[in-house]
Amino acid sequence: MLLGIPLLAETGKETVRGTLVQQAGRKPSLRTKDGKTVFLDGDEPTRGVLNDPRLAGSDFEALGHFESPGNFRIDPIHLRAMFVYKDGKKLFITYWCEVCAIRTYTPGKCWCCQEETALDLREHDLP
Ligand SMILES: [Zn+2]
Repeated sequence: MLLGIPLLAETGKETVRGTLVQQAGRKPSLRTKDGKTVFLDGDEPTRGVLNDPRLAGSDFEALGHFESPGNFRIDPIHLRAMFVYKDGKKLFITYWCEVCAIRTYTPGKCWCCQEETALDLREHDLP
C-alpha cells in the first residue's frame, strides 16, 4: 500500500473518467467504463460544476487524487482539473456571459450583470 506516504501524495496526480451521474441527495459520481462508481468532491466552485444539470450524462474527466478506492478529490478550480469529451475532443468547462464578455469556471450568475452564465465548452482555456 502506497497510501499515506507524504512524498507520493504530493506528486501523485491521478485521473478518473466516466459518465457524470447526478442524483438527488447523493454526491455526484462517475460511472467508469468498467462499471465502477467513483464519488467526486472538491472545492465549492468545483462542486458547482459537478452539480450543473447541463453536464449530467457527459463523458467527464477529472484530475486529482483518490482519497479511497471509491472517492476522488478533484484539484482546486484554478488548476482547471475538469474536462468533458465531446465529438472526440477534450474540452475545458467554462461559463460565459455574452453581455459582459466575462468568463468564469463555475455555474451561476454573472458578477457584473447578474444574468445566468451560459455553459461554454472550449478546446482552449483562453481568457
Ligand atoms: Zn454579465
